[in-house]
Formats: sequence, C-alpha cells, structure tokens
Amino acid sequence: MPEAQATISQRGAERIHGGHLWVYRSDVRRADAEPGDVVRLLDERGRFVGRAFYSDRSQIALRLLTRDDVPIDRAFFAERIRAAAEYRKTIVQDTEVYRLVYAGGDGLPSLIVDRYADYLALQTLSQAAERLKAEFVEILLELFSPRGVAERNDPKVRLLEGLDQRVSVLHGEIPPEVVACENGVQFAFDLLKGQKTGGFLDQRENRRAARDYASGQILDCFCYAGGFALTIAGRAAHVEAVDLSPAAVEAGRRNQQRNAITNVTFREANAFDVLKECDESGRRFDMIILDPPAFAKNRDSVPAARRGYKEINLRALKILRPGGYLVTSSCSHHIPEALFLQIVAEAANDARRLTVVVDRRTQARDHPILLTVPETHYIKCLIIRALP
Ligand code: SAH
Repeated sequence: MPEAQATISQRGAERIHGGHLWVYRSDVRRADAEPGDVVRLLDERGRFVGRAFYSDRSQIALRLLTRDDVPIDRAFFAERIRAAAEYRKTIVQDTEVYRLVYAGGDGLPSLIVDRYADYLALQTLSQAAERLKAEFVEILLELFSPRGVAERNDPKVRLLEGLDQRVSVLHGEIPPEVVACENGVQFAFDLLKGQKTGGFLDQRENRRAARDYASGQILDCFCYAGGFALTIAGRAAHVEAVDLSPAAVEAGRRNQQRNAITNVTFREANAFDVLKECDESGRRFDMIILDPPAFAKNRDSVPAARRGYKEINLRALKILRPGGYLVTSSCSHHIPEALFLQIVAEAANDARRLTVVVDRRTQARDHPILLTVPETHYIKCLIIRALP
C-alpha cells in the first residue's frame, strides 16, 4: 500500500519551515489519506517536508511529527514518550503528579498523558491520536507499569475532530481517589470525574513560588481542591479558600484533613461576590491568589474576558494590605502576557496602588512551551507586591 500523503501550499510549508507544527485546512492542496492517517507531507513542488497526523475534519488539518525522513512506528512514539519522561526527572521534585506528555511541547501533538502516582490519565485529541490510542497504552504499560490508565477524552475539542466525548478505564483499575503528593502536600485526585484529568497540574510551580511570599491572612479565590491554599498554609496565619463548585470545596476539606492542616477555611461561593464583600466590609489580606478558569475561550470573548480579569484584579488590589502580595493568573491562551500585564497595571492604577512585579511566571515546566508554537503557552502568573 502506498504511504498516505498530503500536499500543502507554499504558505503551509513556510509555517512548518518556521518551526510551527500545524497546517490549516486552507493550506492543504491535496490529501490522499484516510482520517487519522500518518501522512508524508509534500510541498507544491513535491519535495518532502515531514510526516504529520492528518485530520479530515478539524481546521488544524495536519500536525507535524517530524521534519526528518524517518518511519513513524511504535519505536518512534516509544522514544518520544521515553524522552518526555526523562526530562521530567530533571524538573519535578517532591511530587508524584505531573504532566508526562504535553502534546506538541513534547513532539507528540494532540497526545496528553498525566501521571498521578501509579496511575495515568490519557487524552487523545485528534483523529490520528485516537486511532493510535491502544498503541500508546501499550507503550505506557511497557515503560511505566501503571496500576491503571484512564482516558479523559471529554474535552470539547474532540468534537472538532468528529470524535465523541468519553471517559473510560483503558487498563487496570482507577480508584475514586488517587492520593498523591505535590510539593510535599498530599492531595486526592478523581481521575474520572475531577476537572481536567483530575487536577490543575500546570500551577504546581506557581503554588511553590507563592509559598515563598505567604504570611498573615490569605484569600485564595478559585481554589478548586486547595492547590494553592494547602501548599502555602504552613506559612500563613489563616487562609480563606473560595470556589463555586461544591465538589471542589468538599475535596478541599478532605485534602485539608488528610494533611492535618487546621488554618484553612473552605467556602462555597462566587469569588466575584466574595471580593466585593471584602471590599465593602473592610476586610484586608496579606496575600490574595486569583486563579480563575479561562475567561477567554476564543478570540471573540477577549473583550468580555478583559473586563472579567480587570474586575477581579481591581477588587483584589483594593483589599490587599500595604506590602501585600497578589498572585494573579490567566490561563487564556487568547490573552497574551503583554495584555495581561496591561490589564493588571490598569487595575493597580484604578485601585491607586503602586505595585511592583516580583515574579513573572508561566505554566510548570512539565508543560513545555515550544518557542515556535505560541499556542503551547497559556498560563501567565504574576506575583505582584503592593508598595507600603
Ligand atoms: N487554583 C486551583 C485551580 C483553579 S481552576 C488549583 O490550584 O488547583 C478554576 C476554579 O474556579 C474551578 O475549580 C472552578 O470550579 C472555579 N470557579 C469558576 N467560576 C468561579 C467563580 N465565579 N467563583 C469561584 N470559583 C469559580
């Protein structure tokens, strides 16, 4: 059988030569391929450009695997996964939960693998990754011998590929709570029902960084299961942790007990309301953490998102004590760092606070950012200090 192939426009080839991994459908001239094939990529003159995953549905028609003329087989994928795991050994400490494979950032576009101690959670977010799912699981079993592998294929992006949304157990068993250590703190994760694949692993290093500045009275808004609150509690007098989701607050309380921490109060509430209440009642804090969900899910929602970020940052800066710290994040890819800095600067100015940027941070290093693929950068995290 001849190898499946796709011919791309000059513009598509330039994108690949420029280091990007994606070719959009409008740059596909011709595809002799089935949905989900690995294809040989050619430019308009028939020259070899690389090998890529092909999708017949998504706007991202091609996702580059390599620019070298090498076979894409089981050994290829096993080597990429092994290399991804090797890199984590150098950057992850005091932690059993981390992203083992971050899609394009590890040269494996549309494949996500998160490790929760002895368990793995997998996402296959393109037609080709979906087709290779069983092979990926076999490789993961060979390399890591996990006790269970869950598939968290419920993200909406699967629909753009014509794939269904599903959650299932692909290997072994997945207990309702997997207890694992992050930054020396024990957390329970629900790999089948928790948000994302069970936790927000991308903020691990920012939780640790926030701990360095923590003291006194702290407000953790959008706390989920206590990621920031429980990591920094040891340095605080008291932490109030707020989330809208009853399941998150319940999980936070159980995590607190698990670590015998007594100075955190979890509260089920809307963070916008809590910030406003504190402003009106005169409550003040030495540190405030803002880690909201992505307000800008697409380009059209950027103006509304901007207002949302401005509002919470303005309110937080108003109720921060002199010399206090604001740890503020945005995980919207569509809000670039420069814009986020500008929004927070406007908020600080409106709050009549002089503030300095103590630390400019991003997603944890197990979510590696490809320099030539801006889409792989999504978390911005600023640690801001209000001058006394
Ligand atoms: N800081 C967390 C992750 C936060 S993810 C950690 O370190 O693990 C965003 C969280 O915001 C989710 O748990 C979601 O339930 C919550 N959320 C969404 N809208 C909210 C609102 N208006 N008020 C409070 N929490 C909200």
